Amino acid sequence: MSSEEPVKTICPYCGVGCGIQVQADEESGDVSFMPWGDAPVNSGRICIKGGAATEVVNHEDRLTEPLIREDGEFREATWEEAYERVVGELERISGEYGADALGFFGSSKVMNEENYLLQKLARRIGTNNVDNCTRMCHASTVWALRTSLGAGAMTNSMEDLSEEADVLWIQGANPGEQHPIANSVYFRQAVLDGATVIQVDPHANKTTRSFDIEDTDRHQHLQLNPGTDIPLLNIVLKTILENDWVDEEFVEERTEGFEDLVETLEDFDTEAAAEECGIPLEDIERAAEAYATADNAAIFTGMGMSQHACGVDNVQNEINLALITGNLGRPGTGVNPLRGQNNVQGTCDVGAMPNVLPGYQLVDDDEARESVEEVWGFEVPDEPGLTNVEISNEFGQGIKGMYVMGENPIMSEPDANEVAERIQDLEFMVVQDIFMTETAEYADVILPATTWAERGGTVTNTDRRVQRMRGVGKVIENTKHDFEILCEVGSRLFDDGSFDFEDPEEAFEELRQVCPSYYGMTYDLLGEEGLHWPCYDIGDEGDPFLYEDEFDTENGLGRIVGVTHTPPAEVPDEEYPLTLTTARLEEHYNTGTMSRRSPTLNRQYPENFVDIHPNDAEEFGVEDGDYVTISSRRGEITVKAQVTTDIKEGSIWTTPHFASASANVLTNDVLDERAKIPEYKAAAADIEVS
Ligand code: SF4
Repeated sequence: MSSEEPVKTICPYCGVGCGIQVQADEESGDVSFMPWGDAPVNSGRICIKGGAATEVVNHEDRLTEPLIREDGEFREATWEEAYERVVGELERISGEYGADALGFFGSSKVMNEENYLLQKLARRIGTNNVDNCTRMCHASTVWALRTSLGAGAMTNSMEDLSEEADVLWIQGANPGEQHPIANSVYFRQAVLDGATVIQVDPHANKTTRSFDIEDTDRHQHLQLNPGTDIPLLNIVLKTILENDWVDEEFVEERTEGFEDLVETLEDFDTEAAAEECGIPLEDIERAAEAYATADNAAIFTGMGMSQHACGVDNVQNEINLALITGNLGRPGTGVNPLRGQNNVQGTCDVGAMPNVLPGYQLVDDDEARESVEEVWGFEVPDEPGLTNVEISNEFGQGIKGMYVMGENPIMSEPDANEVAERIQDLEFMVVQDIFMTETAEYADVILPATTWAERGGTVTNTDRRVQRMRGVGKVIENTKHDFEILCEVGSRLFDDGSFDFEDPEEAFEELRQVCPSYYGMTYDLLGEEGLHWPCYDIGDEGDPFLYEDEFDTENGLGRIVGVTHTPPAEVPDEEYPLTLTTARLEEHYNTGTMSRRSPTLNRQYPENFVDIHPNDAEEFGVEDGDYVTISSRRGEITVKAQVTTDIKEGSIWTTPHFASASANVLTNDVLDERAKIPEYKAAAADIEVS
């Protein structure tokens, strides 16, 4: 049995962007994994997910033919029939109700070129109702970073953080679980070189246990109550002000708004705030000293910060902390969101969002929009469209038709039972995916797509590194690449050449023209190493860290804004006496569409579970291993209980990965009013033994 040559590509899971190789067996077509020994990010090292990534490529559940719903049942169809139905319905709905009756969901599991084409398709049809799953994870982070520093992205790179950071302040992120190679290679190296770790999280996890630092001054876990990040950071900020640890020169020359922060904290009661956080005041003050007095201190932020109704304020307070201590604009510092999927950054960069075009150019900025229109040759609507949850709230009402590429909103959106009800009110939905998902079950047309291992394109990893993916070619004959499908749908709708691309490289060439920070990149220049954007001109080598001389704001200054505490929209009461919080596992991936089908991954965690503190377990009569029903105002799930001090007393913790008991049946769909991200991280809940 002979094999084709292995091809170098990027792991399809988290945002670290580890390089791996894939190889197709010529006879069986089976695709297997091989390490890529000198891959730029990971030098051949991988985590359990990366090692198991090819298990889904040849999975027996793969969609193999287009499916069309007829009389309530799916039947196999030809591509011609499927395209006719999709194009016909998009034309009918936009003709009958207007283009804004359509919604488009892109995906961070899909490559830059494909998300670029999807958002272009939406805009060519005449709507800005296009969004992607970033809305659900880091929209608030992007909003705060873009507004206060200039770019909605990691300020630094893994390499400079690893080499130069003296303090790693990790708040609401769990790299030990979610970004294992970043944690075990880059962060571990920083720790071996003497860095201190401050972790802020209601849940003890793999990050807490990963560094093995005996000196408690060098490793603190501040186990706060969910939703109290603002009071905790305000204690840190006030401690810094009171101890004169402010970098006055930096504040004077490079920031604005410092007085606003001072005023906000003037009457702030640190003792009362520490009680609200559930942490001794002196522990928070000790952490503040470690951060503020380090030569270089870096903040890492995750969904524990962003997925709140006050998500923008949470991240703004991290930015405040970095700005007043001068921890921005040089290696080993910054505010660094750890992104969950391998192309979260790129999906936003290429404009799959309702308010921005490629390169974060605002749709309501006439000059920016016109410059994109000039390249595209058609007019783009000048009003921002609806965001992810806003679109799903309008299913069957304002939104009559949906185009869903690689997403599973029935499991990924909060208050999931309601979403499942509303989705049935759509007049038409097309889903483009590799498996029959919980959402695809409700589709009218399903288009079978190829996997990440079969096709080429680019992805942009968590530290702005744009890397090429390469594929082994189709392993199932009648599937198509997302790229091909979008070109075909677009070309059938519009015969003006807007979707006339030979291959992803040709689409990337167009993307460069409308996305200034990508202009200096070509497939050849990306090579095997990739480039960290921005690359404004051919020959730019990219920027591993941003803002050396000035911020990318209108006046070049970093924006400090004092913020005050907004408690979660739901707090415990008599009926729902606990706070439910949610997070992901290393062994699973988002709604589990891929990881639940991977034998290696699913064996580790075949079902959902809940962590409950021993004192709460006693109060609610729960024994370790009991099946319990967790309920919130929106629904209930039944899962196995783990009694553990990993979770803060008064809170319970579970995951969103399992269709049979998804946390999102319980979560609250209240949104941050600016970033429109839902509050996944805090909901009032009850628990009882089943
Ligand atoms: Fe893949 Fe992330 Fe694991 Fe690297 S750390 S192998 S990118 S899941």
